[in-house]
Amino acid sequence: MFRKDHFHKGLWSQGGACSFLRHDVDQPALKVVAGVDECDVCGLFQHVPHLRPGHVLSCARCGNTMARRRRTSEIGGPLVFCLSALALYIVLLVSPLMTLNIYGRENMVTLMSGPLEMARQGYGSIAILVALASVLMPGIVLVCMTLILYGASRDEMPRWVRPLLAWYEKLRPWSMVEVYVIGLLVAYTKLVDLALVILQPGVYLLGGLMVMMAAMDSAFDADMIWRHRSVTRRPGLGMYMAEGRALPPEKHMLSCHACGLVFVARGPVDDERDMGDCPRCGQILRRRKRNSLQAAMCFLVAAFIFYIPANMLPVMAFVKVGHGHPSTIISGVIQLWEAGLYFLALLVLFASITVPVLKVFLLALMIGCECRGRASHKALKRLTGLYKVVVFIGRWSMIDVFMISILAAVVRFGFMASVTAELGVVFFALVVVLTIFAADLYDPRRMWDAAGYNRQGLGHSRQGGEEDVTELRDMEPEKA
Ligand SMILES: [Zn+2]
Ligand SMILES: [Zn+2]
Repeated sequence: MFRKDHFHKGLWSQGGACSFLRHDVDQPALKVVAGVDECDVCGLFQHVPHLRPGHVLSCARCGNTMARRRRTSEIGGPLVFCLSALALYIVLLVSPLMTLNIYGRENMVTLMSGPLEMARQGYGSIAILVALASVLMPGIVLVCMTLILYGASRDEMPRWVRPLLAWYEKLRPWSMVEVYVIGLLVAYTKLVDLALVILQPGVYLLGGLMVMMAAMDSAFDADMIWRHRSVTRRPGLGMYMAEGRALPPEKHMLSCHACGLVFVARGPVDDERDMGDCPRCGQILRRRKRNSLQAAMCFLVAAFIFYIPANMLPVMAFVKVGHGHPSTIISGVIQLWEAGLYFLALLVLFASITVPVLKVFLLALMIGCECRGRASHKALKRLTGLYKVVVFIGRWSMIDVFMISILAAVVRFGFMASVTAELGVVFFALVVVLTIFAADLYDPRRMWDAAGYNRQGLGHSRQGGEEDVTELRDMEPEKA
């Protein structure tokens, strides 16, 4: 019979991989470690205490926030915000955002007008990107969240919740409502000088959607949803109770990148080996992200190359009564500054010029640190903190892309006034997307690995070598 695990084993396996789903329960090569979590940015395995509402768990080595228990109800809290956001989103789809009036001629735009106008001007790739980030993804994310919360509210969590939650975490960053709101704000301030701009109800719905989605994120605790799906009583699955005991050597342990469940193997685990499917979420288990250094480096080099035309070429052309010329990103910033909109000028300067450079520079620094293989604890801690910043700020560079799509859709008055997108915006969007991928593909734990951390468990000496001969004495399968 054709099964899902056979399909992706065929794609991914490197030989000898073990899987819980293959029913090789007589000799499970991995055991679930209870009471231990791995810090996902420095790779330290550590005992976790029972967290109560309001508690925050920070990594003992790098200070990264590993878990945060919400004070609100696990299901009810996020569900209220999610359903409100969904209602706002549905009304928003059919509501106008703004109307531009030039000498009595009017043009009204909705959320879909930007992507449609981009496609009409021949920039299909930008149309798809804008439609994905501002229209499709918010809808998909909200529907996923509703289904996840519904599934988790039932006594026995249905199987389909697992892939949905794993995918939700991957797709969430691509819903960029808040970035779109800033793009709309910049477009609005550019237009008020030109003509009469009337804000329509859609703008307030968009603001409401942004607030509701932010509230939903802060109330949602994915960790608690995973805990609904207990694996402790699964027959044939060995457990290693870590409470009150020394941890096994770090080289023997790995954690699931999607749900965070920690496992221990009999011997050292290769960093990139496919270790089968996670029994809790079904995702492929690997100790480290695969080819993280090479993949991140490729995307960074490509982003760096595209950054040059993105800044040299014009990104849009604003033509007013037959006059006007194409403008680049930096000239757009200067225009905002000259118009006295200092805050917006600085915001666009930071988001469009500084952020891409900062991301390329910082990721290159991390890759350099990994290649050198030597760094102080303080430097590693600082770089790990910066990695979190790089991941967070990445999407904000989309402000300019959104602004151009909105301007092009709303300013369509032929000879009198029109905005057209120019080739530079394609390169700029490429830079944004490539740097987001580069940050996502890079595995910051490798910096710590290269500097000699992550070799042994807490309480072991850091001499090295011994871990390869360490045998776990209680690795025999438990009687089911
Ligand atoms: Zn850490
Ligand atoms: Zn998992």
